[in-house]
Amino acid sequence: MGAMQHQHPSGPEMLNDPGRMVQFCPMCDSEFNPMSARILAETAQGTLMHITCRTCRHAVVTIVTMSQQGVSSFGFITDAAAEDMLRTLGAEPVHVNDVIEVHQQLTKSIQFAKALTK
Ligand SMILES: [Zn+2]
Repeated sequence: MGAMQHQHPSGPEMLNDPGRMVQFCPMCDSEFNPMSARILAETAQGTLMHITCRTCRHAVVTIVTMSQQGVSSFGFITDAAAEDMLRTLGAEPVHVNDVIEVHQQLTKSIQFAKALTK
C-alpha cells in the first residue's frame, strides 16, 4: 500500500473506486478501523459489511462485489446497528438476488449520500 490519495474525482468514478467506502468514513473522512467492520452476509456475488466510524459514530453499510471488471464497492450511511441488520438478514437466507437488489439500492443511495456530503 502506497500513499493514499485523498483527492477523488467527483462523479460516477466514485462508484468504481474499489475499497474507498470500506476504508474511509464518507461523513468525516476518517480512516476506518478494520476491527469495527462486521460482515453481514457473504455470497458468491459479494460481501455485505457494516462499519462504524470511531470518530463520528456514523455507520456505513457497504457491499463489495467482484466481477470481471474487478472489485467494486458501494455504500450508504445508516443509523441501523450491525446487530439489527444481522437480525433482519438472519430472518432468511441471503440469496444472490438479495445482493443484487441491495446493490441496486446502494447505487441509488450513494448518489443520495454524495448529495448530502457535498
Ligand atoms: Zn466518520
